[in-house]
Amino acid sequence: MPIETQRLILTGDLVQDAPLIEQAGAVIRAGGLVAFPTETVYGLGADALNPDAVRRIFEAKERPAWDPLIVHGADLEQLRLLVQELPPVAETLAQAFMPGPLTLVLPKSERVPDIVTAGRPTVAVRIPAHPVAQALIRASGTPIAAPSANRFGRPSPTNADHVMADLAGRIELVLDAGPTPVGVESTVLDLTTQPPTVLRPGGISREAIEQLIGHVCLLGEALPGGQPLPAPGTSPRHYAPRVPMLLCPPEPAAFVQAVQDALNLYERVGAMTPEGWQVPHSQRVVSYEWGVWRDWQVLAKRLFEGMRWLEQQAVQAIVCPLPPAEQLALTIRDRLLRAAHPPL
Ligand code: AMP
Ligand code: MG
Repeated sequence: MPIETQRLILTGDLVQDAPLIEQAGAVIRAGGLVAFPTETVYGLGADALNPDAVRRIFEAKERPAWDPLIVHGADLEQLRLLVQELPPVAETLAQAFMPGPLTLVLPKSERVPDIVTAGRPTVAVRIPAHPVAQALIRASGTPIAAPSANRFGRPSPTNADHVMADLAGRIELVLDAGPTPVGVESTVLDLTTQPPTVLRPGGISREAIEQLIGHVCLLGEALPGGQPLPAPGTSPRHYAPRVPMLLCPPEPAAFVQAVQDALNLYERVGAMTPEGWQVPHSQRVVSYEWGVWRDWQVLAKRLFEGMRWLEQQAVQAIVCPLPPAEQLALTIRDRLLRAAHPPL
């Protein structure tokens, strides 16, 4: 049975918004589902300590039970209760990057239900920087388990319209505070391996982490000893629009050629177009003005919006230049490679 999803529009003034955030906190306490803005993307939140509430997250998203959730706390003291201990390296990282788009994987404490961690002995924790996320966690009085507020496998939601498109009728509430500033998910760093492993590149770059704590591995890279890396909770196809993503080398000439090639195969073609780059003159091309090439912050912020917008223009494929494997570009690259992976 579908439920009515209430959309609460926030003003951005936390004092004025307080009653609405209190209302959302009460929904979380009662075991309900609330979609809310974080600095990365919109999250689908439930009381992390209530297994029945967490089960509803998996149902609403149609997320497989093997894919563990990130638990969000308002501060380091709240995170401390979720893990066995915070090692010194976690404290160092927390001081530099928390609140912010960094998630740490650590051995879990007993109070974290197994359904949250998909039965693993570790838990992923972070402190979101968005003032609404902070206020919601405090109003709920409990840590909040929250994956992205999309149907499993779809591009992540960076505004409340995206959330409604995927989850209306399945969740109690959406807190609408406009578009999210970072636009891609948090970096997931596993601190149980030596050296630590980036399980998912995200809003904090590998380079920034390495400046602080030295070398870290990236999932998919071979370890020095040749041992296999730990199994990820991530799937090769993810973040995908309903139409094929066609990736091309990041040069204007290759981009025009790729759109031209796509026009030979598809009636209507979408293009994620960097500022100043050309697309072939054709009524059959729909161009999304993505942002200045190499301005990775803007390109990351607008990535998922571009995919969802082009999908709505009824294109049959989307052409996109593939960024290099460095800094925040690595995160955009990772999302695009997964979005372009053939259906499993
Ligand atoms: P989402 O919140 O949907 O963007 O995805 C969260 C991601 O965090 C999952 O896909 C996992 O890759 C990762 N994750 C969460 N918990 C764990 C864990 N205990 N161990 C390893 N990875 C985790
Ligand atoms: Mg997700």
